[in-house]
Amino acid sequence: MEPPRTAVIHLLYLDDAGSASNPKEEYLVLGGLSVYESQSHWITRELDKLAESIEPGDPHGVEFHASEIFSRRVPPWKGLKPDEARGTIKSVLKVLADARDTARAFACVVHKASFPGRDPMEIAFRTLGTRWGVIRRLADTPFFVDSRASRVIQLADHVAYAVFRRYQAGDAQYFDLVASKFDEEDGVVHGLAHKEIGNPGCMCPACLSRRINESRRS
Ligand SMILES: [Zn+2]
Repeated sequence: MEPPRTAVIHLLYLDDAGSASNPKEEYLVLGGLSVYESQSHWITRELDKLAESIEPGDPHGVEFHASEIFSRRVPPWKGLKPDEARGTIKSVLKVLADARDTARAFACVVHKASFPGRDPMEIAFRTLGTRWGVIRRLADTPFFVDSRASRVIQLADHVAYAVFRRYQAGDAQYFDLVASKFDEEDGVVHGLAHKEIGNPGCMCPACLSRRINESRRS
């Protein structure tokens, strides 16, 4: 049954990048996007088209998982040149870049060593919860995952990955594509949180915009 026209259902898709336990990784990211229901259909169609250009015979067998595409170890990414793999990740992110502004990105970046003995994933969830009411909204919204949703989850995976590469490797080529989609008000990028202690001069969009706003108010 279709929901009544007046009901606007905002769907939220989250994924993580980086691992809490891998000591080689300094950061853990929880990120994704929120979209209106009709937008999730549009995103699914766009990513289906991209999948078709990669595997015309089996587009539904193509799953976009950014770290797998990047490492080129499993089909259909095996045999891709590094440039082609990077281009595929960017093509996925471009779907978000091209989406209407009601599609918003958000992410929490946790510097693991800043919070010794604590679960970085819990910190990321709490931050999302207090800043955007994400937890409450999750609890209020009938939550479902079906085949149509999986393409949007794959896009969420790419958002988390783009943010992870920006902080972990100083590689902003993915992040820059979707940077303008992070929720922003009066020049403050609320959609991006960077939790790191002892890095007061950080020039990332989250820290920089917050400092500028604080100096405006004082
Ligand atoms: Zn920062």
